[in-house]
Amino acid sequence: MKVKVISILEDNYMYLVIDEQSREAVAVDPAVPHRLLEIVKREGLSLTAVLTTHHHWDHARGNAALVKELPGLRVYGGDDRIEALTDKVTDRQELKFHSLNVRCLFTPCHTSGHMCYFVWEDGCDDPPAVFSGDTLFLAGCGRFLEGTAEQMHRNLTEVLGSLPQETKVFCGHEYSIKNLKFALKVEPDNEKVKEMLSWARARDDDDKPTVPSTLVDEFQYNPFLRLSEEGVQKFTGKTDPVEVLRVLRKERDSFRKPKERLPPQAMLALQWGLLSAPPRLPKV
Ligand SMILES: [Zn+2]
Repeated sequence: MKVKVISILEDNYMYLVIDEQSREAVAVDPAVPHRLLEIVKREGLSLTAVLTTHHHWDHARGNAALVKELPGLRVYGGDDRIEALTDKVTDRQELKFHSLNVRCLFTPCHTSGHMCYFVWEDGCDDPPAVFSGDTLFLAGCGRFLEGTAEQMHRNLTEVLGSLPQETKVFCGHEYSIKNLKFALKVEPDNEKVKEMLSWARARDDDDKPTVPSTLVDEFQYNPFLRLSEEGVQKFTGKTDPVEVLRVLRKERDSFRKPKERLPPQAMLALQWGLLSAPPRLPKV
């Protein structure tokens, strides 16, 4: 199983998961469809399905154009607001595309219909992959736009955190440097955070992605997965894991530089799911 990482827009990722024997491919959040189709053609692939993590325009905006180009293409997702959705999936539903297996993991909070996709290949020793959209990022987690800290806690611990530790994590955005700077504020003595931050800066200098990470690594530096660590509890002044998470996310929200904050109207538009088309607005 090969995963092609494609950087798009300002800091989004779309992915192509390729079954190398059959040359069939599944796209995840293909928000720049013509670029995706160029790659599909150049690599001699046949695109069989689109997996959409959530309805936000910077993840789902390419679906209609892809379906137009490839009639019959299936578009999977967990939210009726997803553009060109053909198959609404539910929690733990399994899909099969040749030798690729997909388990849909319902992770509501960033949006109320957010799905992550856990993918593995039959007869292949490669570690599995999870496409975590805007739920789990490298060293961070998504904003709670349509959900609660309780839901995100469940997403991070019971749903994603309990996957095999070697699982590769492919997230929806390149936010690693900012997330790691925040992680360092939370745990100033965490050597792994320091190491990852200098590595992420070097990757940025080379214009290379920091994805994928692995779950086992995330548990070492991602404060949102380290809720029972003494340093994280001290930073938040809480001990209950849900409360630690709630405070962490709130602190992360205000960690964004003022110029990067969305105006109130844009926040409302996001919550109402109106951000489905340009004009371009800052990312969430
Ligand atoms: Zn989003």
